[in-house]
Amino acid sequence: MVIDCSLLQSTNVLQLSQMAKYYHPSEIEPKWQKKWQAAKLYQAVDFDKKRKKQYLLVEFPYPSGEGLHLGHAFTFSLMDVLARQKRMLGFNVLQPMGWDAFGLPTENYALKTGIHPAEVTKKNTRRFRQQMETLALSYDWGREINTSDPQYYQWTQWIFLQLFKQGLAYKAEIPVGWCPSCRIVLANEEIVNGHCERCGTEAKRKEQSQWLLRITKYANRLADELDLVDYPDSVKAAQRNWIGRSEGISLKFQLADSKLQIKEIEVFTTRVDTIFGVTAVVVAPEHPLVIELLKKSKSAEIKKYIEQAKKKSELERMELVKEKTGVFTGLYCLNPVNNKKIPVWVGDYVVATYGGGAVMVVPAHDYRDYDFAKRYGLEIREVVSGGKIDKEAFVDYGKLVNSGQFNGLSSEKAIKKISDWLVKKKLGQKTVAYKLRDWIFSRQHYWGEPIPIINCSKCGLVPVPEKDLPVELPYIKRYKPTTTGESPLALIKEWVNVACPKCGGPAKRETDTMPNWAGSNWYYLRYLDSQNNQELASKKKIDYWMPVDLYLGGAEHTTLHLLYSRFWHKFLNDIGVVPDKEPYYSRRQHGMILGEDGEKMSKSRGNTINPDKIIKKFGADALRLYLLFMGPYEQTMSWSTQGLEGCWRFLNRVWRLAKENVKKQKTPSDLLIKLHQTIKKVTNDLEEMKFNTAVAAMMEFINEWSNGFLNPKEAELFVKILAPFTPYLAEELWCEVLGQKFSVHQQDWPKYDGKLVKEEMATIIIQVNGKLRGEIEVKSATAKKQVEELAQKEANVTKYLKGKKIKKVIFVPGRIINFVTA
Ligand SMILES: [Zn+2]
Ligand SMILES: [Zn+2]
Repeated sequence: MVIDCSLLQSTNVLQLSQMAKYYHPSEIEPKWQKKWQAAKLYQAVDFDKKRKKQYLLVEFPYPSGEGLHLGHAFTFSLMDVLARQKRMLGFNVLQPMGWDAFGLPTENYALKTGIHPAEVTKKNTRRFRQQMETLALSYDWGREINTSDPQYYQWTQWIFLQLFKQGLAYKAEIPVGWCPSCRIVLANEEIVNGHCERCGTEAKRKEQSQWLLRITKYANRLADELDLVDYPDSVKAAQRNWIGRSEGISLKFQLADSKLQIKEIEVFTTRVDTIFGVTAVVVAPEHPLVIELLKKSKSAEIKKYIEQAKKKSELERMELVKEKTGVFTGLYCLNPVNNKKIPVWVGDYVVATYGGGAVMVVPAHDYRDYDFAKRYGLEIREVVSGGKIDKEAFVDYGKLVNSGQFNGLSSEKAIKKISDWLVKKKLGQKTVAYKLRDWIFSRQHYWGEPIPIINCSKCGLVPVPEKDLPVELPYIKRYKPTTTGESPLALIKEWVNVACPKCGGPAKRETDTMPNWAGSNWYYLRYLDSQNNQELASKKKIDYWMPVDLYLGGAEHTTLHLLYSRFWHKFLNDIGVVPDKEPYYSRRQHGMILGEDGEKMSKSRGNTINPDKIIKKFGADALRLYLLFMGPYEQTMSWSTQGLEGCWRFLNRVWRLAKENVKKQKTPSDLLIKLHQTIKKVTNDLEEMKFNTAVAAMMEFINEWSNGFLNPKEAELFVKILAPFTPYLAEELWCEVLGQKFSVHQQDWPKYDGKLVKEEMATIIIQVNGKLRGEIEVKSATAKKQVEELAQKEANVTKYLKGKKIKKVIFVPGRIINFVTA
């Protein structure tokens, strides 16, 4: 899109001669902000065939009353530099913004201040948007979304209905975490050390009917299809670990002379090679055996232990527990491989939902089982040789000993043989277990999307007909959570009581609302077609823009938001709404900015940095530049006022040089070479998101510029590469100093002159399985993949690789490439 220069050249433009001697961002910035807005400079164009599309997405904020914080300014600036540069590189860039507006913090804030959540949201989003505009973030505001807008959440509800119709949304009575103070159900991740994450009150457990989403049905695909996307390895590993798939076997341990109804305990293990080393079986406190036992036994010890366990969340019990604890039940069971009598314990590190709620204890071959055995005096029986079990557990694979007919087998072989033997004897069954749980999808508070279901005493759970969507959240004055644990919506009789859509009889609306993750699950699709009232987004637009090319966000969303939204996307793919299996082609995660004292920023510590104040004093450009310059974006960094001031001084120097060191004469060749080297460096660095080194290169350049003069044509090149970083100053220099008509943000990204920038060459040694097989000459900056291809084309290398499968390629840039074959 090219805009008319008249839009940018208003009548009150400052003339060169009138330009201030000193750099005054407060005069420059508001002026350009208004002009860019009027010109709609950052609109993305649907179906543009001339340019390649580029969908750049940054996690949308929750519009809190605090306003935009420094972390937002940091993340948004990073992405904005890329968006601006990609536009200059000729891409059709979509960079949208919106509001993740439902959720408890708004509701709590509203309760505290007496202002309705809808009003709070309106006020906060206005402020956020204004702050973003001040920061020169180049969003296409025509696509703004708000998850609490009925026009938006009717489609969140629509997706829920599709899930319900496919049997992927269901209701069940489950034990849930409960905060007596916030009066809401807490998800596992919202319980920290047994306390409510928000208010710190001790969390309770209770049985309650809840909506759940069957994310477990997608567990395999969520793990496997990570191979299709470009995420950091740590993110992929964290997701796979969260899903926690393990293949193993479920075995039955018969109870020995028990008078109970329950006759056997099912145990899941991935290490059946250690089965002869089992010296206890531990069941979860929720295990039916324990429930039956408690009815009969009067053991105060067991009762007390179970009361304690109930207060902890599953996550705490599985992941965070440092020491395994337990109580002996007085019962024994029989090891299915040799009928040896084994004591049965109850322990809270076992959870009911994983692997059947019971595990076998093999102290000799598991670290925590080893400690457990030491603490409670259980036998430690070695069955896999290779370690020193008198000192510690041996957890690796080895050769089987003390294992009857399986002695002498390797662990790998034994796992297969023992499994087969157990299956044949009908004592076991091969099973895949997951740590991932179905997702608790209901909350009992006001400020969320109503679940579009009607409860009819005759028909059961009836979906609200799609034509009746959205089920609007009623505007009420009393949205305080109830003491019964029901949603406050349950109190609004005229809203709750409806006719059943199926039989017409009297029925009641579901009063639970969705969790705050619901709206953010699919928001990247709504940006594509935010005004559409017929469907969540038109198929044509989805086809054009999806998948998201780059998704930038925080590490705290690795396992929840990122996983949940991948789940919904796969479901939408299954029902034909989206063409791709994955929503985000590539994901990068930014680091965190600490206070000047190196500590996490917090009000109580008094070390927060308010972006508004910084902008007022130094301008938005200086803040942006400093945030980009602080260090590698994915690291944790401390704020430095000195560093900020350094960036501000740099901008002052650029200002002065553009005014004083530009002359209509030939640029000296040294300076010209330095300029082209800088263009090259900034271009390559942005490709790799090395924002800080790109800024450093420009700083280095102006040191040389201050010793000489640039021709206006060359000054333009520098202003262009500066433009994505400090959009206001660049525009001012472009239009007012260099006298250009169109916006600098609509210019082409400059190309460096290869003749001026001598390419450094390197000789790469080529090895096959560590033996020298050739060498090639390449530009030092050549990427691994390209070197790999070139090296494989060398005749001698081709010969040695012929018919072999390459297992691994080791590459030392500028020096060596080694092909390891299978
Ligand atoms: Zn609470
Ligand atoms: Zn009915």
